[in-house]
Amino acid sequence: MTLADDPLIELRTRLAEVSDLERLGVLLAWDQEIVMPPAGAEWRASQRATLERLTHERFTDDRIGELLEAAVPATPVDEDLVRVTRRDYDKARRVPAGLVEELVHAGATAREAWARARAESDFALLEPHLRRNVELRRRYVACFPEVERPFDALLDDYEPGMRTSEAEDILGRLRDGLVPLVAAAAASAGDDALVTGGPFPADAQRRLVETVLRQVGVDDERWRLDVALHPFMATISPGDVRLTTRYADDDLDSLFGTLHEFGHGLYEANVDPELARTPLGAGVSSAVHESQSRLWENMVGRSAGFWRWCFPHLQAAFPERFAGRGWQDVHRAVNTVKPTLIRVSADEVTYGLHIVLRFELELALFEGDLDVADLPAAWRDRTRAYLGLDVPDDADGVLQDVHWAEGLFGYFPTYALGNVIAGQLWARITADLPDLDERFAAGDFAPLTAWLAEHVHRHGRRLTPGELVARAAGGPLDPEPYLEYVRAKVAGASARLIA
Ligand code: ZN
Repeated sequence: MTLADDPLIELRTRLAEVSDLERLGVLLAWDQEIVMPPAGAEWRASQRATLERLTHERFTDDRIGELLEAAVPATPVDEDLVRVTRRDYDKARRVPAGLVEELVHAGATAREAWARARAESDFALLEPHLRRNVELRRRYVACFPEVERPFDALLDDYEPGMRTSEAEDILGRLRDGLVPLVAAAAASAGDDALVTGGPFPADAQRRLVETVLRQVGVDDERWRLDVALHPFMATISPGDVRLTTRYADDDLDSLFGTLHEFGHGLYEANVDPELARTPLGAGVSSAVHESQSRLWENMVGRSAGFWRWCFPHLQAAFPERFAGRGWQDVHRAVNTVKPTLIRVSADEVTYGLHIVLRFELELALFEGDLDVADLPAAWRDRTRAYLGLDVPDDADGVLQDVHWAEGLFGYFPTYALGNVIAGQLWARITADLPDLDERFAAGDFAPLTAWLAEHVHRHGRRLTPGELVARAAGGPLDPEPYLEYVRAKVAGASARLIA
């Protein structure tokens, strides 16, 4: 056998092409959101659909299956490559191309209906589309007859290997821990007036965000920052990581949002370069990814050390607003706990309950007896039970998120699981690096970045999410460290109130 006949080499060559096509798809999507003139939308949709079809055909080609059979892994990386690719390949081959197209098309149609329904706060405009999405997703689930529970097939797309029963257990314990905490915090009525209400001019926000990004390790060689309506992160390659943010005049969310996207970007940027252009060269799951973004947004961005370092920069950006104030004032304001109707503006303590609510409704849709028509009422009931709030209209209730309109079911739980993992990692990190807060105060984020690169980022998809958490955090998925973290936060707030 010559080198050219080595199945592993041919497999790697073909997978590298698939990876290139996928990244080009990301580039097209980024371009559409950030720089494309609006009149290009119709053609861009065709371009993206063509590229997606070619990518799918290339990856699900019979030849890939033959090569996976014939390949003889020579190294541990090769073994992981064959195992992970085999799993992806088998999943991709199960779903008929016609169904994939229907899912994409139905999602795009429903997205438009959702925008109208939300603007008019009229659930009836979305209901038939949602019904269709649920029906199509049921057909998708049916492609995996071996799953124990229907929801397992949906969850597996975002959390490979996770069972619904595990998500139920973790999120149930999270809910039971958070409900009394949120009730107690609501009674103490925190005050975030210092960092809300504006005006915070966009130019000054941008300078502040750029200062923070430079300090945490963003350089012009590998990174970009642009403005987007709905902020996201796009990795075009390990040497081309693109963050986006949004500057609203009346709050400082751009700072926390950018730290969030930075956490996602840092994960992708630090995957072992050896894994690039293979299926192993990316973050391992949605929840692990979200653990990285939440860790930078909340554990770092709302820490005392961070604000001891950042406060002078904040003051320089908005001299009038913060004249005569100290870092402690800002630290207190950005850690306010106050229940809100809207998930995306929720604080980090109440956030988990927004997700639990969605997860429970998704489960009831796919495994229980909840009808699509009854979603608005079920939403109101749970919002009252978990957050103690009345939902005045569906725009501020069941219509607030685009996910279900896009056909995304099984995705929401990963947001809360990301917080849970971030809590576990943070407990480990602060034990390993006891002077971390002092380092932040000195503007030194390198010890944290190095810890994350070593224990989380570099592995790419070589470890399963469960293996990664067990190794990095020292045990299985567990909501307790996160609950401890938020309990300390709420206790701190009430202690300050009494004092
Ligand atoms: Zn995120």
